[in-house]
Amino acid sequence: MSTPNTRLNHLVAVLRRRRCRLTPQRLAILNQVARSDGHPSIEEIYERLKGDFPTMSIATVYKTVTLLKELGEVLELNFPEEGVKRYDGAKPYPHPHIICVQCRKILDPEIGSLTQLVETAARHTGYRILSHRLDLYGLCPDCQAREQGGE
Ligand code: ZN
Ligand code: MN
Repeated sequence: MSTPNTRLNHLVAVLRRRRCRLTPQRLAILNQVARSDGHPSIEEIYERLKGDFPTMSIATVYKTVTLLKELGEVLELNFPEEGVKRYDGAKPYPHPHIICVQCRKILDPEIGSLTQLVETAARHTGYRILSHRLDLYGLCPDCQAREQGGE
């Protein structure tokens, strides 16, 4: 896995190659996408940046993230039951996620045998696998502690 800074440099290079204007706002958005701390939604990225860029609109965040998605540089995780889409620009390829059902914190768990699982599924069904999505749901350690302390 690449570091946030190498991801950021890569995203900057990708947009430069496409001759996109790299305003300070856009660079700040790219930085958030490269880090993708907690897999933020468009709204969360906007909330994190609007203190530094009071004139920035949420549409600017939306346009930048959508462009990166079209270029295959960000993974979109749709949660229709919540009515929210979250983004991972640190790892733009399919990978498993673990989601806290209470605070909605999302992490990337290390799952060693996933490649094998995908290969087994392909072999058993004859499908050529193009993508995959694996979400594990549970209570994060913080929420477990809160639950125990709150009783
Ligand atoms: Zn939690
Ligand atoms: Mn992820």
